[in-house]
Amino acid sequence: MDYISTRNKNLSTSCVSAIVNGISKDGGLFVPSSFPMISNGEIEKLIELDYPERAAYILEKFLTPDFSYDELLSYTQEAYSRFDGDPCPVVKLDDQTFVMELWHGPTSAFKDMALTVLPHLLAASRKKLGETGRTLILVATSGDTGKAALEGFKDVEGTDVIVFYPSDGVSPMQKMQMMTQEGDNVYVCGIKGNFDDAQNAVKRIFADNEIALKLKELGYKLSSANSINWGRLAPQIAYYISSYCDLVSAEEIENGDKVNFVVPSGNFGNILAGYYAMRMGLPINRLICASNMNNVLTDFFNTGNYDIKREFYKTMSPSMDILISSNLERLLFELSGRDDKFVENKMTELKEKGFYTIDKKEIESVLPMFYAGSADEEYTKDTISYYFDDEDESYLFDPHTAVAMSVYDDYYDETDDTTPTVIVSTASPYKFPVDVYSAVSGKSIDDAYKATDMLEEISAQPIPEPLRNLKNRKTRFDKVIDKKDIESEVISYAMKRN
Ligand SMILES: *Cc1c(COP(=O)(O)O)cnc(C)c1O
Repeated sequence: MDYISTRNKNLSTSCVSAIVNGISKDGGLFVPSSFPMISNGEIEKLIELDYPERAAYILEKFLTPDFSYDELLSYTQEAYSRFDGDPCPVVKLDDQTFVMELWHGPTSAFKDMALTVLPHLLAASRKKLGETGRTLILVATSGDTGKAALEGFKDVEGTDVIVFYPSDGVSPMQKMQMMTQEGDNVYVCGIKGNFDDAQNAVKRIFADNEIALKLKELGYKLSSANSINWGRLAPQIAYYISSYCDLVSAEEIENGDKVNFVVPSGNFGNILAGYYAMRMGLPINRLICASNMNNVLTDFFNTGNYDIKREFYKTMSPSMDILISSNLERLLFELSGRDDKFVENKMTELKEKGFYTIDKKEIESVLPMFYAGSADEEYTKDTISYYFDDEDESYLFDPHTAVAMSVYDDYYDETDDTTPTVIVSTASPYKFPVDVYSAVSGKSIDDAYKATDMLEEISAQPIPEPLRNLKNRKTRFDKVIDKKDIESEVISYAMKRN
């Protein structure tokens, strides 16, 4: 499978080089030159396999011929052995509603689904390309990607990881997770600014030839662990297909029946993977895009207008506090019939004017598969509390997944659609103990560790082990810098390491 740039279809590259480079030279994102298909018969076969086997099977379709099934299986087996049990259990909430829990990995957020696999793909891709220098992974994080990338890449040979996060824009647990990161090849730094500032700086660095040259002299080549990297997205397609297999196998649906997925969205990577699964032939009725108060995606789907000139809110679902959803570029590419000039124009408009508009008529034939909605803070809290108190099926949602559940409730009220629906659950509630405890108890406790203990007392759910141990770990990284100093911080890290 070859990969092409969303901004230039003629720029075709191998999958290993797409993974190593992360982003295309023209600033576009790599997408597969075509979509491999998955048939009902293959779904039937996948039902018999375990998750690492299912994931390797799906990955092979996108990464062949550079990678063989056996290679990929060795990666997925090692990656998912770091999870606590089934990597993506599907839990039944009621007759038509299911929750796919993607947070049983080492950092308790869904980013682990891909970031445990990516280091294997990246190391192997470098080898296949004959690269000898070191790789410097730059990460901008809204909270969860950073920690998952640090865990995935710590002490991986030939790589270094630098993570930038908004110092006042992540939850206390997310911050502690990153500040206490272990490993000899890692660096974490807070910035005064929000996630978009961090992401913009990282994107600028990737596009800057001068920095690339300087890093090259220091023996480094840049790569990305953000969901702009194809190696991040590809493993995410697998769990959509896997959850479908689980529903068939549990006789909740028949093979061929359609399902809905509800995805709490920020950078649009997760739901895009669902869209790709659908393009492969997975029977999906609706992809429901859920946003918090930063509802730029909701407005886009409902009006065709993507406008970042708006107030930015810090919410209790910080991993979705994003205004520039990078992966929407990949969807635009598909919606426009793979029109690279169209995408380039829209991205230039966004950069120069802070908004773009698409004529809904142009893409109406493809849009109905999406539904978009948002939930404000109060509604999200009410949802956490409502489902926790539910007598038959008590369930403890984290704030991100609660946004998804809220939007699904609205969708259901509006449409009466009885299609079986999977809520994609992206984080453990224990990553956000202060807000979750306050939602279920009505009491506020500022200390995250105390809130964690209280939450465990009143819920049936145990604290994930890595979060339980957090408070005993030493802080290693507490530096906070101005957003304009991100470039120089990267260079100075590379110089120090030399
Ligand atoms: C990253 C993240 C999201 C948003 O996912 P995108 O792929 O960026 O849309 C939602 N919830 C949690 C907990 C996350 O960490």
